[in-house]
Amino acid sequence: MAKGMVTFNEDLCKGCELCVVACPKNIVELDKSKINAKGFNPAHVVDMDECIACGNCAIMCPDSVISIEKL
Ligand code: SF4
Ligand code: SF4
Repeated sequence: MAKGMVTFNEDLCKGCELCVVACPKNIVELDKSKINAKGFNPAHVVDMDECIACGNCAIMCPDSVISIEKL
């Protein structure tokens, strides 16, 4: 069961991958199938069931793209 719901304000993402590196579960990746309003591949969570709602990804994001809701 997922412990959190992670949402991305995709169009604000600059594809810096700080959130990708920060996730202890390695479930954050850049979505190569999308290009956002800024022209970057936006970050997304590939397996929400594995999320432990630690908040690391949201803390690391310099542009406040990510919000976490604990479930
Ligand atoms: S809250 Fe933690 S486990 Fe969930 S996606 Fe973010 S860094 Fe990964
Ligand atoms: S840290 Fe923020 S800006 Fe950087 S890739 Fe992740 S969501 Fe996008």
